[in-house]
Amino acid sequence: MVEKIVFVAKDVIKENERLAMKLREFYDSLGLVAYEFLGGPGSGKTSLIEKLVERFTSDFSPSELLYIDGDVATSIDSERMSKHGIYTVQINTGGSCHLEVPQVKKTLMKLGGRPFLEKIKVMIIENVGNMICPFSFPLGAHARIMVADVAEGEDKFIKHPLSTRVSDIIVINKVDLAEYLGVNIDKMKSDAYEINPRAPVYLASAKTGYGIDEIYQSLMKLAEKVIRTA
Ligand code: MG
Ligand code: ZN
Repeated sequence: MVEKIVFVAKDVIKENERLAMKLREFYDSLGLVAYEFLGGPGSGKTSLIEKLVERFTSDFSPSELLYIDGDVATSIDSERMSKHGIYTVQINTGGSCHLEVPQVKKTLMKLGGRPFLEKIKVMIIENVGNMICPFSFPLGAHARIMVADVAEGEDKFIKHPLSTRVSDIIVINKVDLAEYLGVNIDKMKSDAYEINPRAPVYLASAKTGYGIDEIYQSLMKLAEKVIRTA
């Protein structure tokens, strides 16, 4: 018999949720669609976002796109993204393992607040690489996209049920590696579906471009709704 102890940081999470909801209202009032990408380090979040940004810049002007990257250190990812001509911001959390609403809010105000954001149509936030706590701290995004890769192990979703449950879209990345690793993608997919039937699961390879079209289309569908109803 194994004893199990579960801790939940309830109060902090509740307060963050309240602030996230206010931030969402702010995005809605601007007609700005916000996506948040979450997932473990090395799962391919940045590469996937890069591929999607290439698509976004064919439907929007680069000056209508904003990318905010949260990382413990360095601006490697935001420098990579800035090559696409879009607005990029680096948040270094200085050791903290996830972003929180006040950090995002402060960043948006520093960029110029409402007058600046009125010109932005699409905002992409990449959270710190971590499969656990970023999922408990929503940032008000219209969609939270979990990126899991096949190299992380077939049991990824079962091991992270809470993270899986709060995600709106699930991407299984690096599917081109699955056969070399002997990973059963169908099992991963059905695990994800069982834990969260609400979230569509997309198979992708940011490297080869496989699956990017489908993901982009689902993001655009949401964008059109948010941008139109503002
Ligand atoms: Mg990254
Ligand atoms: Zn954390």
